[in-house]
Amino acid sequence: MTTYAPCPKCGNSTAEKVKFTWWGGILGPKLLTHVKCTACRAAYNGKTGKDNTAAIAIYFAVIAILCLGLIVVIFATLGVFMMASK
Ligand SMILES: [Zn+2]
Repeated sequence: MTTYAPCPKCGNSTAEKVKFTWWGGILGPKLLTHVKCTACRAAYNGKTGKDNTAAIAIYFAVIAILCLGLIVVIFATLGVFMMASK
C-alpha cells in the first residue's frame, strides 16, 4: 500500500486514491495524485499534502484550451477543404 501525505484538514494519515472525478475523468486524479481522506472525506494532493483546487483549476483550464484548440483546428481544416473544393 502506498502512503500519502497527511490530510490538510484533520491530519489523518490514511487516504485512499480517487479513481474517477468529474473534472479529470480517470487521468486527472492520477496525474495530480488526488486522494481522499478516510476520516473527513476531504480530497487533496497525496504527494504535497495540500489542497488540490488550484491544480485542478489549471488542469481543467489546460483541457478546456486543448479541446477548444482542437475544435478550431477541425473547423479551420474543414474551411480549407471547402475553399479547395470550390
Ligand atoms: Zn481528513
